[in-house]
Amino acid sequence: MITKRVLFSFPKDMVEKPIVYHLVKDYDLVVNIFRARITPEDEGFLLVDVTGPEDRIAEGLAFVRAANVAVNESEIGLRWDEGLCTSCGNCLTHCPTGALKIVDRAAMKVGFEPPLCVECLSCISVCPFGACSSLF
Ligand code: SF4
Ligand code: SF4
Repeated sequence: MITKRVLFSFPKDMVEKPIVYHLVKDYDLVVNIFRARITPEDEGFLLVDVTGPEDRIAEGLAFVRAANVAVNESEIGLRWDEGLCTSCGNCLTHCPTGALKIVDRAAMKVGFEPPLCVECLSCISVCPFGACSSLF
């Protein structure tokens, strides 16, 4: 059993298709939805953790791709712009998982570790420099 975090991007004509239903029913996968933005007249985004045997996950994701939904296994929804970050530290106490953290104590430099991010989006409103934003 493995768990993969995957970002699905739906074109306008696909936002009402029951992709998650098929992943659960037809491929026996456990799908944990982190965050979604689906509106009928717009493109949609769905960020999920998919758990199951590796081969079933691969088959399920192939089904999603064949349904014309983009599957991104390396991107997440939270954007952190290192160039805008001043390492002010304002976000550190608001990040529940330590995804935003001090990566260099001597320089007090802040860094971002995407696999730890749970997409709570708390950092966006507390960052005075706009270094944190959301893809959707
Ligand atoms: S979205 Fe939440 S978990 Fe992710 S970096 Fe921001 S505060 Fe941390
Ligand atoms: S609040 Fe913004 S600028 Fe300050 S350390 Fe966090 S990400 Fe960087």
